[in-house]
Amino acid sequence: MAITKTDFMRGMQCPKMLWLDKHRPGLKVIPPEIQARLDAGNDFGDRAMGMFGPYEEMTVYRPGTTIPDKAAMLQRTQEHLEAGTPVICEAAFCNYNNYCAVDILRKTETGYDFYEVKNAGEVQPQFIKDAAFQYYIISRCKLKIGRIFIVIHGPDEDNPFVPVDVTKEAKGYYKWINDHIWDLNRMQKQPEEIEVQPGTQCSDPYECWYYGYCHGGDMNREQIERIRYYEDLLLRLQQLASRADLTEKEFSGAAELVQELESYYGSTEWKQDFTADEEGLLPKGLKRGVLSEDGIYNVLELYRERVEEFVSENERNGVSESSHFTEE
Ligand code: SF4
Repeated sequence: MAITKTDFMRGMQCPKMLWLDKHRPGLKVIPPEIQARLDAGNDFGDRAMGMFGPYEEMTVYRPGTTIPDKAAMLQRTQEHLEAGTPVICEAAFCNYNNYCAVDILRKTETGYDFYEVKNAGEVQPQFIKDAAFQYYIISRCKLKIGRIFIVIHGPDEDNPFVPVDVTKEAKGYYKWINDHIWDLNRMQKQPEEIEVQPGTQCSDPYECWYYGYCHGGDMNREQIERIRYYEDLLLRLQQLASRADLTEKEFSGAAELVQELESYYGSTEWKQDFTADEEGLLPKGLKRGVLSEDGIYNVLELYRERVEEFVSENERNGVSESSHFTEE
């Protein structure tokens, strides 16, 4: 796909954000409170699908994943449009590979109205641009759109879905979308990283998930990658040490993790990372159990208990202690 609705909105907030999404997504740090808000938004969107009664949902996932199968969604949408289905949710459209999935399409006498659902108490300017992007793609797919609504979260929890008509404003953005979509397409594909100075766009309208990367400088970038690496080791060791049925091979792998973690824990790097955390220099959403002395200590203790149990069990069964692991 070329540019999706999310790509467009993120690229218009900051082109570098879009470039990082495509080329270095691992640098993203989503603060837990933002993730919780995104999850609540998804729940609200799911509930809104039934606001007009029975509906057909177009979502199709690639087998064994939760990744949308866009080609299958496009085909399914086409079939339902041809069949004249009255309410179609997550309807997919594509024009020159630019893509969007519309929350709710509702059939009218002359075509369809569409509804973009937002878990917010009022319509914000970026919601209208978001709807405008969808209108741009759908109308280029030759589907006649009448009215455009943003569905906001009203005060009545028994019936919280409040549609606000934004047809005029959203349609008015058609040229603006066309003026930018092709530049964003080109820009996201370029191999060199886009240079953009941090500024007000880093938190307006949304807080950027690359904040730590762009604001921290090289030292901070290295530090973040390092902390992530050891945090992952800690988590893997924790998962292994929490199990009572480890094989000898898994014990051996755990012993290597222990060695690496102990060596990090005694290093100058750990002290630097610990100090950076104390001074509030790390991004808010970065997981950092590995910088807590208790965090590492507890996992190592758990691991040692497992080793003792394993050795005692083998002794009871008359098996000699494996040379693959030893208690440090
Ligand atoms: S932190 Fe700021 S400059 Fe960096 S990608 Fe995000 S919005 Fe752009």
